[in-house]
Amino acid sequence: MLKRAMHEKTLTELSDALAAKQISARELTEHYLGRIEQLDADLNAFVTVTAEQALAQANAADERRAGGTATALTGIPIAHKDIFCTTGIKTSCGSRMLDNFVSPYNASIVAKLEDAGVVMLGKTNMDEFAMGSSNETSFYGPVRNPWDLERVPGGSSGGSAAAVAAGLCGGATGTDTGGSIRQPAALTGLTGLKPTYGRASRYGMIAFASSLDQAGTLTRSAADAALLMQTMAGFDANDSTSLADPVPDYVTEIESPWEKLRIGVPENFFDDGLDAENAAAVRASLDVFEKLGATIKSVQLEHVHLSVPVYYVVAPAEASSNLSRYDGVRFGHRAEGADDLIEFYMRTRAEGFGAEVKRRILTGTYVLSAGYYDAYYLQAQKARQLIAEDFKRAFADVDLIAGPTTPTPAFPIGQKVGDPIEMYLNDIYTIGANLAGLPAMSIPCGFVSGLPVGLQLIAPHLAEGRLLKAAHHFQLHTDWHRQVPEAYA
Ligand code: GLN
Repeated sequence: MLKRAMHEKTLTELSDALAAKQISARELTEHYLGRIEQLDADLNAFVTVTAEQALAQANAADERRAGGTATALTGIPIAHKDIFCTTGIKTSCGSRMLDNFVSPYNASIVAKLEDAGVVMLGKTNMDEFAMGSSNETSFYGPVRNPWDLERVPGGSSGGSAAAVAAGLCGGATGTDTGGSIRQPAALTGLTGLKPTYGRASRYGMIAFASSLDQAGTLTRSAADAALLMQTMAGFDANDSTSLADPVPDYVTEIESPWEKLRIGVPENFFDDGLDAENAAAVRASLDVFEKLGATIKSVQLEHVHLSVPVYYVVAPAEASSNLSRYDGVRFGHRAEGADDLIEFYMRTRAEGFGAEVKRRILTGTYVLSAGYYDAYYLQAQKARQLIAEDFKRAFADVDLIAGPTTPTPAFPIGQKVGDPIEMYLNDIYTIGANLAGLPAMSIPCGFVSGLPVGLQLIAPHLAEGRLLKAAHHFQLHTDWHRQVPEAYA
């Protein structure tokens, strides 16, 4: 094993170290908790640190290992995006609305990971209700990028990304509705996996746009993503949209010999909006795949330019419906001193939601209203179908699609907050995979002015194994994913 500081190791390396008794879960957990205490004030990556519970879980993990019933994840410290419900622990979703909400149950993926023996270090900061591309809409303030504290880490899973990139935890969960795992992964130099829609349960994951939301991972490597997804994926009777297909053995599959893949490159992804150096890094990584024996060919995604406008109709429409449950009556923020029920609702929601969430609710309610439904929502659904068909056609000829994850590297905090359209355009390359329900990843592929940039890989439905394997083989031949920000080495 490489000689690296404990917090620079991959989950796979940590798992081996735990199995070889080179380290205990307790030591590992104390190390990460120490780093969180020392370093998180600058980053603001955590909303809640669950130190006491983490140490108890670590002790239990060490006992389980001694007893011979450990899994590969037993004793591995991770963090959960604060969108996942966690029993007895505040689950805020980055919102004032849920600042006082303590969940009475675990999200299914949290429960599965807990059963495998992971140690939860805490809950990570995020854009409010996962709405954002920069992690600046959180009620708890912006998260900072460990590569440059004046810059955003990307959103909405920015707290998870900053925490892993700075070595405050070994890996973290995230959610991706329009790019919220891949985009922060790209901007912080991590590997982000958004599986096929329905591959991992959404039960207990606070809903934003239900036809798009999917749980995934932020890790240092593709092998780590395989390790976590192995446990997270699978059918859940509590989520009617979860897929019943058996979960393949990703961990073994990624180690199998490289097969000659055909990789499609949508040339319209390399448009004027893409930073030239970012584009060069992506092209150079395609050369790496070519050297590995892949065939690179161009593909047409004719309607993909519609993905941002389509998404910003569909996602707000679903959000406006999902967020109607926050009325102050049963849980969450509750306005004081209202004279009647209507005023109570209005004040609760005016106080509880931030500006971006209100913008989405207004947009969503508008596009669903009588008279506009046909013009906007129905049109968007039709265009969504065209985008999905483009991908399907492309996958008749290629095994994977590759391109940039983001138009630019991390931008300065505050730069785009005044211009929602400019902010929404950050998602231009990531949204297509969500609209079509496809699995997609971002892996580190270079640096632009000292800031990491990502390569996006998209696969057909349920081809997570192929996706992870391609990413893993790329990482066996490159070391972009092993770079860490100097201040957090
Ligand atoms: N940036 C997109 C949005 O603001 C996507 C967010 C996400 O994937 N959760 O909606």
